[in-house]
Amino acid sequence: MKFDTIIRNGTIITATDIFRGDIGIKKGKINKIGISLDEDGDITIDATGKYIFPGGIDPHTHLDMPFGGTFSSDDFETGTIAAACGGTTTIVDFAVQPKGANLKETASIWREKAEGKAVIDYGIHMNITNMDDEILNEIPLMIKDGYPSFKVFMTYEGMRVDDGILFKTLKQVNESGGLTCVHAENFHIIKCNVERLLNEGKIEPKYHAISRGPLVEGEAVGRAIKIAKMAEASLYIVHNTCKEAVDEIARAREEEYPIMGETCTQYLLLSEDEYFKDGFEGAKCVMSPPLRNKENFKYLWKAIRNNTLQVVATDHCPFFMKQKELGKESFDKIPNGAPGIELRMALLYTYGVLNKEISVNKFVEVTSTNAAKIYGMYPKKGTIAVGSDADLVIFDPKKEVDITSEKLHENVDYTPYEGFKLKGFPEVTLSRGEIIANKGEFVGKIGRGEFLRRNSPIIL
Ligand SMILES: [Zn+2]
Repeated sequence: MKFDTIIRNGTIITATDIFRGDIGIKKGKINKIGISLDEDGDITIDATGKYIFPGGIDPHTHLDMPFGGTFSSDDFETGTIAAACGGTTTIVDFAVQPKGANLKETASIWREKAEGKAVIDYGIHMNITNMDDEILNEIPLMIKDGYPSFKVFMTYEGMRVDDGILFKTLKQVNESGGLTCVHAENFHIIKCNVERLLNEGKIEPKYHAISRGPLVEGEAVGRAIKIAKMAEASLYIVHNTCKEAVDEIARAREEEYPIMGETCTQYLLLSEDEYFKDGFEGAKCVMSPPLRNKENFKYLWKAIRNNTLQVVATDHCPFFMKQKELGKESFDKIPNGAPGIELRMALLYTYGVLNKEISVNKFVEVTSTNAAKIYGMYPKKGTIAVGSDADLVIFDPKKEVDITSEKLHENVDYTPYEGFKLKGFPEVTLSRGEIIANKGEFVGKIGRGEFLRRNSPIIL
């Protein structure tokens, strides 16, 4: 027998293991793992001195998404190329339900955005913005069709749902074998704050953060958890940023409620200081929830270490500065979101593993394995095991990179990580056995990415 590809002599790292060995790939899947395998491959990759991680999974992206009168600037082509170059081989993107559309229609709108463009495999979350009996009845059908995760916003005018609808969604999704995700911030308090600040003539980007402080998030996280308890449902809270939110999740988990949580790279590495930069610079980091003070970094790292939070995603949602300028005269009109999909793996390695915040196994767990489990893709994705898709990152732990936006593939004119220094960067990315990125350049075929029909969640 001959492998299609054999990767020799790398340090293979999973969520639980680390050892030197070879990986034989056949027909896109991992066929054999061992020490000094006898068989040859059509392609041989020498991974001496390199790490081999499961390909990254980013379960929180917004590609080609309408927001505030514009669209996020990465589509499924540019966004997934950036992901691939940064070592991410799977995303789960949020399909936002347009007014008047049912879930099936929403899913096909998103499938069309991705088809012929995506270069890595992708799942789709259903982001419910309008709920009625038809939508409620569609939920079990969508789960059967491979869409087991549903998101609702507790804030954002026009997209948010009230507590009653959150309750109904949680109940129906849970009873049908799916998982509800929630963006938790208190809509009414934000609205009051925005009105007051604008009336006082406070229009600059920094007031975005001031209008939605940590308690605005913490209150909504706590309320969402209580509503999930009433609905007897599991719940996943996206992008937690602060102690106020994490404490609520920790308490619920101590009481053995099935509550899970995510944070994002930016909340571990960037602080509210970004908003106090000169001129309109602060708009680069206008996102919701906003960046917090640096004190929160240590709570978030701790929450990752002790499994209060299971996933580090990106909430990748880039806008050009020109688009951000929609809010030049009023911070509430700045499109919310920032880029991050390309640098997540490398940033978390340097600032998480090398700074001794997390072990290298924990790194794999929170960048890949846990998302695969929670979002119904395990063990096809998220690990290095015989039979799993050969989605792999060959990572050079010695490679030093100074981050500048010109080097990146994200379709946007800045990165919030400009000037950050990295030690360790993905050298080769394989998706289903194909080399799709090599030394920071995309070498795969446009449109090769496949839609992932996902299974029911594993609650962690
Ligand atoms: Zn988001």
